[in-house]
Amino acid sequence: MTTTPEARTDDDAREDEDVDVLTIGRRVRQLRVARGMTLEELAAAVGRAPSQLSMIETGKREAKLTLLRAIARALGTSLDALLEAEPLDERSTLEITLERAMKGQTFQSLGIEPFRIAKAVPTPVLEAMLALHAEIERLNDERAATPEEARRANLALRKLMRTQDNYFPDLEERAREILTAVEHPGGPLTQRTASDIAAYLGFTLHYVSDLPQTTRSVADLRNGRLYLSTDSGKGDSRTPVLQALAARILGHTEPKSYAQFLRQRVETNYLTGALLIPEDHVVRYLQDAKQRRAISIEDLRDRYAVSYETAAHRFTNMSTRHLDLPVHFLKVHESGTITKAYENDDVNFPTDRLGAIEGQRCCRRWTSRVVFDEDDKFNPYFQYTDTGNGTYWCTARVEQSSEGAHSVSVGVRFDDTKWFIGRDTPNRGVSRHAVETCCRQAPPELENAWRDQSWPNVRTPRTLLATLPTGAFPGVDTTDVYEFLEDHAPA
Ligand SMILES: [Zn+2]
Repeated sequence: MTTTPEARTDDDAREDEDVDVLTIGRRVRQLRVARGMTLEELAAAVGRAPSQLSMIETGKREAKLTLLRAIARALGTSLDALLEAEPLDERSTLEITLERAMKGQTFQSLGIEPFRIAKAVPTPVLEAMLALHAEIERLNDERAATPEEARRANLALRKLMRTQDNYFPDLEERAREILTAVEHPGGPLTQRTASDIAAYLGFTLHYVSDLPQTTRSVADLRNGRLYLSTDSGKGDSRTPVLQALAARILGHTEPKSYAQFLRQRVETNYLTGALLIPEDHVVRYLQDAKQRRAISIEDLRDRYAVSYETAAHRFTNMSTRHLDLPVHFLKVHESGTITKAYENDDVNFPTDRLGAIEGQRCCRRWTSRVVFDEDDKFNPYFQYTDTGNGTYWCTARVEQSSEGAHSVSVGVRFDDTKWFIGRDTPNRGVSRHAVETCCRQAPPELENAWRDQSWPNVRTPRTLLATLPTGAFPGVDTTDVYEFLEDHAPA
């Protein structure tokens, strides 16, 4: 988009011109009809071909001033009256508005060919078309979420999660129904059970090597096929299957807003977690662990053969509701940027002015950052951190992904530490982030030495921009997807 003043003036002028040509044409026709003249009669009166005059009346051609003067004379009016003021009648205004709309971006992007608006088209039809046009434009505006709107939507969603202690009974119920339908005995979900769930929902699984780059899976709803990447078998092969099926189970349709897109993503991940780690089973397991004062995210991970992040996330669903433990969860990129956060234990996450946590820098003294410096990547890391807002105990691990290393941590208030393995850790941290500058500024000696002698070139964090929607399925190349489906569809 150009925003130079010159460009704007040009555009405005062109738009005014368009309106004028259309309006003048309309006015000519209106006056001609009012005087009971045919197109041929007026054409003859000004010495032009009827087709030429028709082009002027429909606004397809601009009339020279001399011709306009002749037309005004033939119609018994003045040139000023043709060019100026006097509003058009309602019908003409509607026609002009619709003609302009048909030339615009919305009609073009829908592939609707502009057509000539005949006199026989009833006025209510024109009004209905314009109303639809206005609504489509409004929805498009709404969907083109700005980063600020995206953050607001994210914030609203996290507030909802907090009031529900990150526990969604309806989603737990859906998971229970599905697991009962495929006669899952409880405990870890096997790859075969994932296939059974797919079959129950009417899908066969197909592993391919050419899945579109921008997708994790593609469902062919017509032929009941679910395509997955052969690469997805490397990590946990159940998760992409379940995530794809979760959207079907939940009946998700194309998101109408960014808020809805986020909500769907949260629900999909929640349901996937609830299938991998079934509530009835895990509650007994965790309550037993609490009784033995031996709660451990590692053990939960190993018990259900899931990633540390899935185990940590699932723990937050259960901990307050079933174990009476407020909790917090953080996912932090190796650069120090927070990418996911949840809390209902009043831990003081850094926020921007809108209250958004994602995208903020995590305190360097917190477990989530310190864990990156640990040499031992195999044992869990524990730390007590005095935050100036109370002391918290956290457990964290680093996991690799295609976007670099992330730490995932789960923490509780000091008083709740007694239920967890790792409470006897000697690791201590002091963070003044909640109350002072803390690590937001470099140490003074470094600051003085380098402040005026350095110029870092910023690398924009991809994770932040990637969450902004740019289409119905944000970030997905639909052409790739449709071509892929054509190639793989059964004959
Ligand atoms: Zn700090």
